[in-house]
Amino acid sequence: MAEFAAVAAVSQLFPALPLAKPLALAASDPLAAAQRLLDAGKIEEAAADLRRITAADPRNERAYVLLGRACAQAGNPAQALAAFREALRLNPADTYTRMLADILAQRPVPDVPGQEGKAGEKGGRRSVSRLEKAALAEREAFLAGQGRVSPGTGPFRLVIDAGHGGPDTGGVAASGLREKDVTLDLALQAARDIQEADAGVAVFLTRMSDIPLSQAARAACADLYAADLFLSLHAPFVDDAAVSGTFFFSRPKGGEETAVARAVAAFENRLAGAGPGFPRAGHHGLEAALLRDDMAGRYAGQGARYAAWLGKSLKAGPFAGKGGVAAAGLSLFRAVDAPAVLTAMGFLSNPADAAVLADAARRKDLAGTGARAVLEAIDAVRGMPPL
Ligand SMILES: [Zn+2]
Repeated sequence: MAEFAAVAAVSQLFPALPLAKPLALAASDPLAAAQRLLDAGKIEEAAADLRRITAADPRNERAYVLLGRACAQAGNPAQALAAFREALRLNPADTYTRMLADILAQRPVPDVPGQEGKAGEKGGRRSVSRLEKAALAEREAFLAGQGRVSPGTGPFRLVIDAGHGGPDTGGVAASGLREKDVTLDLALQAARDIQEADAGVAVFLTRMSDIPLSQAARAACADLYAADLFLSLHAPFVDDAAVSGTFFFSRPKGGEETAVARAVAAFENRLAGAGPGFPRAGHHGLEAALLRDDMAGRYAGQGARYAAWLGKSLKAGPFAGKGGVAAAGLSLFRAVDAPAVLTAMGFLSNPADAAVLADAARRKDLAGTGARAVLEAIDAVRGMPPL
């Protein structure tokens, strides 16, 4: 959805700009009608239209791609995956759809020799940490509740991104606690809490297990699920061990960066650039640069509103009263076509924070208070006119 909206915005600015082939839909194209339904949140109607189109024209690759998106937004990952796989069978060169399919399949991580596992572990099998086991249990619970989101009623679409994953461990505390495990556990628990609150918020996760995701793949999740808010969870490791608490970062225009924001951006940007790269199909050269700047600018104000409300709403939990709200030059904000907030849920570089994050009960408390703050912020901001 965001992809099409973005192209429309650029074509208004530069009418002569040639658009990438897969996105150029004529008004008479039945796919354009389905796309409009999808944009309007009429997901079930869009899916029904697209099923008719694919039945009549089984080689219509774009119809399968749109059907996959409709199914993903309706909370049917298995049907979405089947549609994307059909599109890939018709056009194996569509790398963007391949990425979306990989995200939905939550492709397991191949063990990367030398990058994971401690000395003394026997080769072959990677040991599963206690946090990972807890995360797997949470994943099952989350999946069990996934069917309760009623499609077509226009729920708020929240994408929660568990930072890092796979060979990218993120920060590692002195105790050995890894950021990628902490973020996954917090994301799964917060997602479940938000779903259970039944507040008209549909939650989607970028990852539900220990898989590697590039920044482009995380951004694709915002696109795939038509995110109203993209919330990326982290527990960074910065040089200053005194930095502690919960921080919410966004990229408001002209926002002033604090020392903490600069340290977090330096840490996260370095790791974001290290992941495996996926090209964004259909976005090339000048067009891509224009799109990125246009979208990043459009969503900056809304992202800053969410960050401010999240900061205001987080009143309890293990880090209550510690932390803040700040502007940060995070590369994620240019990649994601949606209002985005990156949060530091404590710092693994701070021994006291790391001890909180290592404790299952206090982590649950942190996820729960975080979930309540998210619901409060959504409630406050969702009705405001865009900036
Ligand atoms: Zn991180």
